Amino acid sequence: MIVAPSLAAAIHRRLLSWFGDNARPLPWRSTRDPYRIWISEVMLQQTQVVTVIPYYQRFLKHFPSLTRLAKAREHDVLVLWEGLGYYRRARDLFRASRILRENDYTTIPDDPDVVRSLPGFGRYTTNAVLSQAYDRRVPILEANSQRVLCRLFGIDRNPKEAAVQKRLWELAEELLPTKSVGDFNQGMMELGALVCTPATPSCHACPLHKHCRAYQENRQHELPVRAKVERTIAVTEVAIMVNKGDRWLIVQRPNHARWGGLWEFPHEALQQDESAEAVALTLLDRLGLHGVVGDHVGSIRHAVTRFRIRLTALCVRMHGGRLKTAAYRNAAWVRLEDLPGYPLSAPQRRLARLLESARNNAKAQKRKTG
Ligand code: SF4
Repeated sequence: MIVAPSLAAAIHRRLLSWFGDNARPLPWRSTRDPYRIWISEVMLQQTQVVTVIPYYQRFLKHFPSLTRLAKAREHDVLVLWEGLGYYRRARDLFRASRILRENDYTTIPDDPDVVRSLPGFGRYTTNAVLSQAYDRRVPILEANSQRVLCRLFGIDRNPKEAAVQKRLWELAEELLPTKSVGDFNQGMMELGALVCTPATPSCHACPLHKHCRAYQENRQHELPVRAKVERTIAVTEVAIMVNKGDRWLIVQRPNHARWGGLWEFPHEALQQDESAEAVALTLLDRLGLHGVVGDHVGSIRHAVTRFRIRLTALCVRMHGGRLKTAAYRNAAWVRLEDLPGYPLSAPQRRLARLLESARNNAKAQKRKTG
């Protein structure tokens, strides 16, 4: 499918005019600074705009330039990222800043080959940053623009299929104007976010409805074709809270693991027929420690992709042993009040709060009876 030049021209004109009148005044839209656009694009991956805004502002307050970011500690970058999820993004961002500084760049350069070679820069991020910062004529494709394209051209195959992806990227490229490319790319995404929404597209308010195949055929609600929903899997995990005096053991996860680089109370999945106490003792053994499994601190539920996880925390009174951390990047004994200085995943932060409230209740009880 080749897009007729007259159709492409009509789409540019209508979309750019609509974007000019309707674009949300988001903080990263008032700048063409490639560094700031990069931070926003990375934060926006898999994350909603309203969630990103305060993180973006806080991050730039701490690290207003690429040079400042490259001089930071990874630990501080992860602390600022805490709660935003997908922590690999933060580690890649930090690594990319160091690589750029080592090569004497002070910002993201207008060079697709350099940018694409950096950690965390796939085709989408590279093109989004270069088109918005330098108006480079390169297409983007993400969930919102993909939905618009599937409907606009009546694509009735699953967009996740490789051949369909290829076709969608080609269409995105064929549609590009010669100037205002960054605005055009953002306009496609904004149209998908505000008008061509997944469940209730507002076709009457859409600047492209005259050209839209799905609208003409009344198939807006059938497109894009959805993949079959995968079944969820229930998992139970056990975390141990080992204390030595007023300090608690936390470990830093290896980089390659989920939540890589974050800290946690050591935890492990429970196998069928295994008790939580048995898992706690296995974990303790792996850490080279001896102890007695004590109180049940509490349980939380959370979801990761299609896994529905119940995470139970048990206290362990340590008797001795020598701490082994081969399975982790690092380990630390920290006071509860110092935990906010360590980046934790959202479920682990909830466990830390459970522990804090269990300790406060125990102290209150002691005061009452003492
Ligand atoms: S006309 Fe409707 S379905 Fe087509 S692009 Fe616009 S909002 Fe989406």
